[in-house]
Amino acid sequence: MTAAPELVVPADLPWYRPVGHECTLFEQAYRSNLPLLLKGPTGCGKSRLVEHMAARLGRPLVTVSCHDETSAVDLLGRYLVRGDETVWQDGPVTRAVREGAILYLDEVAEARPDVIVVLHPLTDHRRRLFVERHDEVIDAAPGFGLVVSFNPGYQRGLKELKPSTRQRFVAMHFDYPSAEVEVEVVMGETAIDAGTAKRLVALAGKMRCLRELGLSEVPSTRLLVDAARLIAAGVPPRLACQAAVVEPLTDDRDVAKGLADLVALVF
Ligand code: ADP
Repeated sequence: MTAAPELVVPADLPWYRPVGHECTLFEQAYRSNLPLLLKGPTGCGKSRLVEHMAARLGRPLVTVSCHDETSAVDLLGRYLVRGDETVWQDGPVTRAVREGAILYLDEVAEARPDVIVVLHPLTDHRRRLFVERHDEVIDAAPGFGLVVSFNPGYQRGLKELKPSTRQRFVAMHFDYPSAEVEVEVVMGETAIDAGTAKRLVALAGKMRCLRELGLSEVPSTRLLVDAARLIAAGVPPRLACQAAVVEPLTDDRDVAKGLADLVALVF
């Protein structure tokens, strides 16, 4: 994504710094009833974009963080025993479809395969949810929108989305932003000065290039924001980077030492 378009955003929205055309594309896809797939590494702003856009579009947001135990039952709902009664309780997907909310399934590829089956009729012209256990077919209320995210390449492709599923979505690729934009993000999120924000971003830039360290994930914008918060709170920069950047990335003491050396070079 290139040029950052002008955006007029009311002050009370969750803050999001656009990197390219993602806000416009999000809005147009939503208004055209097209489901959205946000692809990109962890901590690069996907969830923040969804929070920002849901508020801007004036829709409630239902977020589900999917993991390998997430099943269709968790999402659709279940019968619960209350005293001597059995009552049906909607799951988050059912609630979002009934309320016309924006439904955000974060890391959808992590969920069990039956979740994808449930989503299919919601992604096409039917915009319909089949809740078998409750013997119910629900047409999505006006305003409903579906957004999913996934992290391509995570765990070397073990959890991928099938091409036939991917083709049901309008997709956008995300990555960590340019250094200039990332400095703005770190400063926008924290009370840190420009010099320190630039150093944090430079540190991340160095770590992101070091393939030989064998990190399964490189430092995200989120980690930089966390480190900046610690520094703004008075924690010395090296210690803040150790706690917020180095330790979350690795348990290997040799790799941690290598990363700490980089921190010492920058701070
Ligand atoms: P993801 O959903 O991609 O894992 P998040 O949206 O949770 O990542 O982003 C992690 C953090 O990084 C956010 O809480 C926010 O502080 C910061 N962030 C990243 N990109 C942006 C951006 N473009 N605008 C504002 N904040 C951002």
